[in-house]
Amino acid sequence: SKDQWEIHPAELTLGQEIGSGQFGLVLEGRWREKKVAVKMIREECMSDEEFKEEARVMMRLSHSKLVQLYGVRTQCSPMCLVFEFMENGCLSDYLRARKGHLSKETMLGMCLDVSEGMAYLESSNFIHRDLAARNCLVSKNNEVKVSDFGMTRFVFDDQYTSSQGSKFPIKWSAPEVIKYCKFSSKSDVWSFGVFMWEVYNEGRLPYDNRSNVEVVESLNMGLRLLKPRLAPDAVHLLMEWCWKEKPEDRPSFALLVHELASV
Ligand code: ADP
Repeated sequence: SKDQWEIHPAELTLGQEIGSGQFGLVLEGRWREKKVAVKMIREECMSDEEFKEEARVMMRLSHSKLVQLYGVRTQCSPMCLVFEFMENGCLSDYLRARKGHLSKETMLGMCLDVSEGMAYLESSNFIHRDLAARNCLVSKNNEVKVSDFGMTRFVFDDQYTSSQGSKFPIKWSAPEVIKYCKFSSKSDVWSFGVFMWEVYNEGRLPYDNRSNVEVVESLNMGLRLLKPRLAPDAVHLLMEWCWKEKPEDRPSFALLVHELASV
């Protein structure tokens, strides 16, 4: 039917607050016997008419390495998005909390999980646009899943959406995104290289002592993030491949899955 993605209010129970993000509060909840995370969308933060259209597309995206969108409540204010619940929270916090205690096998597994989720998005011709450890979540059994795909398109804040803005994720962005806002699966691949760097640095922020302007200058000079101490050579080579200047010289996610599986 026309509103099959609409969550019926009687089926949704809201619980306690578990976080807050770009669009507002995130609550724990229950929907059809399942534990869920509910994002309450502050109206002034999101272009919700456009989002309602896109929610249909996003709900059809379904993969074990993507945080599933179960549905939306548009017939209430604030609008709510209902997602699969991820018991172990955001990956960047998870990495920092376990610093010094993660095995290399675990780190490789995290990269492989995310490459699989991203290969699915790539095959669905869906661009993430903001892949980073902070936008991945960890399940009860420590699987890592990709979250927040495509959501930056609905953010109202210019500081976040313009490459000149103070909140734009320059440090994860490919050169063609910084220069021309040219997003593609290949610009997601660049971000995935930075994601792998975050994993093998146990949640450290990339270029943490440098400004955005300094980062752009060093990229223009052909410099890149350094090899993390814990990264195997084979994984570092993949990072460098993701950071090729020309998008067409970078690997696809399909190829990255294959390469990571054989490290
Ligand atoms: P946004 O990306 O909209 O800025 P986040 O997705 O980062 O907001 O959500 C903020 C916080 O809420 C996260 O850091 C995490 O702790 C929690 N959270 C978000 N989604 C989920 C989820 N599906 N399951 C469990 N916790 C979540």
